[in-house]
Amino acid sequence: MTISKNDTLFERAQKTTPGGVNSPVRAFRSVGGTPRFITRAEGPYFWDADGKRYIDYIGSWGPAIVGHAHPEVVQAVQEAATRGLSFGAPTEAEVLMAEEICRLVPSIEQVRLVSSGTEATMSALRLARGATGRDKIVKFEGCYHGHADSLLVKAGSGLLTFGNPTSAGVPEDFVKHTLVLDYNDVGQIEEAFGNFGGEIACVIVEPVAGNMNLIKATPEFLQALRELCTRHGALLIFDEVMCGFRVGLGGAQALYGITPDLTALGKVIGGGLPVAAFGGSAELMSKMAPLGAVYQAGTLSGNPIAVAAGMTTLKLIQQPGFYDKLTASAKRLAEGLTDAAFEEGVTFCADYEGGMFGLYFSEQPPRNYAEMMAGDRARFNTFFHAMLDEGVYFAPAAFEAGFVSAAHDDAVIDETIEAARRVFRQLKA
Ligand code: PLP
Repeated sequence: MTISKNDTLFERAQKTTPGGVNSPVRAFRSVGGTPRFITRAEGPYFWDADGKRYIDYIGSWGPAIVGHAHPEVVQAVQEAATRGLSFGAPTEAEVLMAEEICRLVPSIEQVRLVSSGTEATMSALRLARGATGRDKIVKFEGCYHGHADSLLVKAGSGLLTFGNPTSAGVPEDFVKHTLVLDYNDVGQIEEAFGNFGGEIACVIVEPVAGNMNLIKATPEFLQALRELCTRHGALLIFDEVMCGFRVGLGGAQALYGITPDLTALGKVIGGGLPVAAFGGSAELMSKMAPLGAVYQAGTLSGNPIAVAAGMTTLKLIQQPGFYDKLTASAKRLAEGLTDAAFEEGVTFCADYEGGMFGLYFSEQPPRNYAEMMAGDRARFNTFFHAMLDEGVYFAPAAFEAGFVSAAHDDAVIDETIEAARRVFRQLKA
């Protein structure tokens, strides 16, 4: 019997790293089994430590929108590296990147670059509190906004009670300011503003949610958030770390035609390296240090190599027809999988928005966290492992969205659908 290098590496990793991974979802805890240790990636594929090739549908959890190791992105990174790795002083590349983001995202007049989505949402929240002089915030069950203390919160015991921490180490005192409501529920948000309107600093939302599988906001829900925030002097924050430049060029705000006060970005804008950002009107952003009283900083913010990868990615996604092709690929995958499951008699459906997709072992796509949790997770886990054996890597948890890239052509998608058909047949048997 040959010993898998993935197993050996996982055993070693667990000795020196908690759970053997540097970010929890990579550990396969939700689906069981040994995580694959990746040695290289190219286009729509990556290869594990045993040399097995997978069609990759996580794309580094979103950033790899042009496919892995795109030659132009790699070249830009190599060229930037020869000029120095980090300066701790401003560069022209940061100016160009800020100009590009302001041009592309409807609500952003000024932007600050940071290094992770967590920093972007955390800083946007601080700015909202600083600008309004209020403490309370509203988030929605199942939306993930990174791991800042105020955001690691789940719903309290009763509707419209303040939340409970989802992590040890988060003081109750922090989360007592966070109200957690149901996604897509207009009545609840109206009630929340009715009760606490004058105290709410901001509402933060994933306008297309990708952290409770894929769940789309209804236009009425986002419109209600916009109107209530405006009426009560609260700020609306769109967390577009995942959906920004993923569901379309101007992000979800362009798709829905709704203008948030602040936007958090990440993933795609770094093209696989650590760049994230938050931005809004020039007036609001002028409250940030060094101009204003809201403090935020970063040693590696706007890192020249990361910005080179991000700028090249932003250039590539603006090629004519880029999003049409990306959306067509997600559609082909979602429809192909749904048809195959139907033909094999398995209860399953799928949905997509731009280059994001969701797979559900239920009759209908879920509309909120509770509906998503009601899906058949045991079935997903069996499906996940059987697909892995077939050489297809979906997100290793039923709670996560998937991603296609420009490198996922029809042949790659059809290969996936045929593999899924074999797996659905086993599931039914
Ligand atoms: N916001 C959303 C919507 C995300 O999906 C994520 C990460 O998955 C974050 C924020 C946090 O970003 P990061 O992991 O870069 O800190």
